[in-house]
Amino acid sequence: MKITTCPVCGSRENRVLFSDRNRRDGLDCEGTYVRCRKCGLVYLGVRPDWQTICGYYGSTNADVTANTGRLDIEAYRRQLEKKLPVWTKRPHLLRRDPHSWPFEKPAAGRNRMLDIGCGCGYRLFEFSVRGYETWGIDVSADAIDVCRKILPKGRFFCGEPETLSLPENYFDYIRLDNVLEHVPDPVKTLGRCFSLLRNQGRIFVYVPHAHGLGLKIFRQDSVVSWIPFHLQLFTRESLKDALSTAGFSRNRVCGHNQSGWLALSLAQRRSRGRRKAALNAGHCAKYLCRALGFAAGKFGLSEELAAAGIKNA
Ligand SMILES: [Zn+2]
Repeated sequence: MKITTCPVCGSRENRVLFSDRNRRDGLDCEGTYVRCRKCGLVYLGVRPDWQTICGYYGSTNADVTANTGRLDIEAYRRQLEKKLPVWTKRPHLLRRDPHSWPFEKPAAGRNRMLDIGCGCGYRLFEFSVRGYETWGIDVSADAIDVCRKILPKGRFFCGEPETLSLPENYFDYIRLDNVLEHVPDPVKTLGRCFSLLRNQGRIFVYVPHAHGLGLKIFRQDSVVSWIPFHLQLFTRESLKDALSTAGFSRNRVCGHNQSGWLALSLAQRRSRGRRKAALNAGHCAKYLCRALGFAAGKFGLSEELAAAGIKNA
């Protein structure tokens, strides 16, 4: 199907970036990315319909541990504990990773955190240790099952935020970690978050960057270009626009250096021509890409964007 209007600003003016097929998963699927001339959003202008895309989600999870049915919950819990950021227990050692927003300790009665697209609870585990009340939703029933096992006090639901029955004006924080690029109507999803947050509640959004170095160098080989799953790639401007349109205020967007993504893109470039791309770049390439990504971030070409906004009703 063809999408003729920009999902963020509604403009019909765009230019074609490139057409390609799915590389990462070996799916028989093609698409065309275009860039909106008004807000800069890159979106999949030619794509399968939403039902077909939903069907693909169930077929690409071979490497996701929650979906193998063999996940050792205790080993997973130990792995999560080992990976907890050092500031979880020693806040004075705070390192500025926006994925741990908000940095402050939760205030009494102000600790309700909803993670939309929470996966196997990787981030919620950290927030639970830091004293937050954890809520998570995900479209994968297997992932939700894992969350319930590792965070028995948390509240978890399988489904999409627009259709699930969740308490409105309730949450203090909502996070969308690499989720907004997957949804068919990103402004609608943000609008739903607005209604779920209490007044003065905060939203945190993490998305791949349409002006990142990876997409500039590797184009269709970049892991940021993921047909048909990445339906849109945001720029700073279009992400701010989407948040404001959904009602959020005091919106700010910053770049974040996802150190592994450039190396994955390089691996995908090297495995061009194969039906399914390899995603292992080797140690040397990883270190080089890490340095390159760090430098790119200094020039505003980071691989990921992190955004925060407030519901000021
Ligand atoms: Zn636009």
